[in-house]
Amino acid sequence: MFAKDTAMIPPVLPTYNRAPLEFTFGAGSWLTALDGARYLDLGAGIAVNALGHAHPALVAALTAQAGQLWHVSNLYRIPQQEQLAQMLVDQTFADTVFFTNSGTEAAELAIKMARKYHYDKGQPDRTEIVTFEGGFHGRSTAAIAAAGSEKMTKGFGPLMPGFTQIKWADHDAIRAAITEKTCAVMIEPVQGEGGIRTVPDQCLKGLRDICDATGTLLIFDEVQCGMGRTGRLFAHEWAGITPDIMMVAKGIGGGFPLGAVLSTENAACGMTAGTHGSTYGGNPLGCAVGAAVLGIVGQDSFLAEVARKGALFAQGLESLCARHPKVFEAVRGQGLIMGLKCVAPNTDVVKAAYAQNLLTVPAADNVLRLLPALNIEDADITEALTRLDRAAIALEAST
Ligand SMILES: *Cc1c(COP(=O)(O)O)cnc(C)c1O
Repeated sequence: MFAKDTAMIPPVLPTYNRAPLEFTFGAGSWLTALDGARYLDLGAGIAVNALGHAHPALVAALTAQAGQLWHVSNLYRIPQQEQLAQMLVDQTFADTVFFTNSGTEAAELAIKMARKYHYDKGQPDRTEIVTFEGGFHGRSTAAIAAAGSEKMTKGFGPLMPGFTQIKWADHDAIRAAITEKTCAVMIEPVQGEGGIRTVPDQCLKGLRDICDATGTLLIFDEVQCGMGRTGRLFAHEWAGITPDIMMVAKGIGGGFPLGAVLSTENAACGMTAGTHGSTYGGNPLGCAVGAAVLGIVGQDSFLAEVARKGALFAQGLESLCARHPKVFEAVRGQGLIMGLKCVAPNTDVVKAAYAQNLLTVPAADNVLRLLPALNIEDADITEALTRLDRAAIALEAST
């Protein structure tokens, strides 16, 4: 035993402000805490548990693969990876896919790929990437530089150069920001951490036009808003345009750590053998689970249900806002990526919801995020609205 008489720091590095909640069991949209209390989960591990907890098809895919083979190196062919890549290629704009273990790693590759593209096209000076205020792309040195907020970057300098943040969805600012040095524009079609801000379809179309006119690559970060969240497989499909490169993670593994970069053949032209790699990325276990998730979430009938449930939820949230104007101000989002712009501090609302055994997630801009399992039952939507109503009443009584 090492004697560490003076260490005050807990064994787990304290980078999170954790709620005093501990869960031992999950099924669908419900979690059971250590003391046996049941919680209705509208966070889904921050949009990760796309099919809720312990979905039988995912448990079956995971356990079947776990009994056969967990990991082999990318030095060899991995049929589970080839299958999932083919499924993604069949259902999206993409011609090719690289698998990662997280959204941050997907951001890293998206950035590298965009720079390498222009380098290989004989324009090595095109390295600047335009991003947006309130954006979130992960916690690596490149990803925090991309987002650029003081909260994430302070003390971690020198930051990786080459990122310009502009005002969210401001077209004149975008036009002005794109120069002969610009290599890509990177944007979340729906900002998650930034407070469930949906980029209007017209803006995404305009962005595509500007990128086409200037030879700039368009990168969509659909780590949070993709994989069925909005009622389409990917959020940008609503706007009828496609990116050159797209980052995916969170829901794609349904709870297993999995991410991906999807790309057109053109944008991926610089990524030849030896230019990028990952030890774990695309391992058989993750890809077997990913294929099971996409097999369900990718069905038109499933996505139509997400849209219907989202509309049902939003209707209830609108009337919640009307009944509690001192707590809630407005409803945001699309499908089952929803936000309640709060009047009361959103962290107080999260705590009031805990008291009703309801799990929600705060976001920037004083927003309460609601990201339930995509297969949440209608009865649980009703129950969630009842609990949010009680939480609002308790908040009103306390102020
Ligand atoms: C969560 C998130 C990331 C980072 O994903 P990690 O898996 O935490 O690395 C990147 N972009 C967006 C939009 C996210 O919501």
